[in-house]
Amino acid sequence: MIWPDNKTFAFTVFDDTDFATLSSVRPVYEMLEDLGFRTTKSVWPVDGLGEPVNGGTTCNNREYLQWVRQLSKRGFEIGYHMATFSSSYRQKTIEALERFAELFGEYPQTMANHSACLENIYWGDKRLTGSRRLIYNLVTRFRFRNRYRGHVEGDPYFWGDHCRNKVKYVRNFVFPDINTLKACPIMPYHNPQKPFVNYWFASSEGPNVNSFNATLSEANQDRLEAEGGACIMYTHFGAGFVSDGTVSDRFATLMKRLSQKNGWFVPSNVLLDYLLSRREHHDITNRERRRLEGSWLRHKLRVGTT
Ligand SMILES: [Zn+2]
Repeated sequence: MIWPDNKTFAFTVFDDTDFATLSSVRPVYEMLEDLGFRTTKSVWPVDGLGEPVNGGTTCNNREYLQWVRQLSKRGFEIGYHMATFSSSYRQKTIEALERFAELFGEYPQTMANHSACLENIYWGDKRLTGSRRLIYNLVTRFRFRNRYRGHVEGDPYFWGDHCRNKVKYVRNFVFPDINTLKACPIMPYHNPQKPFVNYWFASSEGPNVNSFNATLSEANQDRLEAEGGACIMYTHFGAGFVSDGTVSDRFATLMKRLSQKNGWFVPSNVLLDYLLSRREHHDITNRERRRLEGSWLRHKLRVGTT
């Protein structure tokens, strides 16, 4: 892959908004901005029912919203992590997408499903096909079988048509390799079996500060650079990256080191648009699907968190 501006590799983050409050994530973003990174911060546009299990703030909080809008103005992408922290029926999802567009000037370009939301799209056992789906269902004791219904036409949770019309990229598989593009060389890809999602992308494992730092180790950074690859980290910046208002030392050291390399540090949507412009539309083949599903399932059964 040839990167713009003579860059050697690409790096970004898609930050799921669970746990995120002003105090738990603002210091992370201040540091990222100072170091020259522009990444993707997801949001919940509207309030949910009750309180979020993992904590986290929605765009209904004025001070938080103001801060997120400033982030957007400074070049960070704002992504979608479903309408809110709890499940939303069709009408609420439609309203949340409109609210998102009102707040940020356009519909979300990238999104990730949120585990608690029954309107997740092609999620749970629907991430897999064939024998891999059966293995997944057996291992998870059928808890996720037909659980998520955002893609099921006629269901109260259905919103697939709006996903197709408004959202460009949806995250699916997460892999241990820092070089996401090596683990999923066809991304962003379309899956004709899942018509309501325009394009899928993959990410690299790192849901909390420890796993994030492990994936971002010095050796891994050097390999990402040597391979000229692309990394889209999956994380929750609200999960342990800041304590007492201070960013984790190890995380700060690693990000500073990475920032000194000749990387292309753009948000997920910019990176994915670039990959798409280099490859054009790609429908995943059966063989590619088997390979991706198989390698994700093996990882998932060992350590994978999503
Ligand atoms: Zn989530």
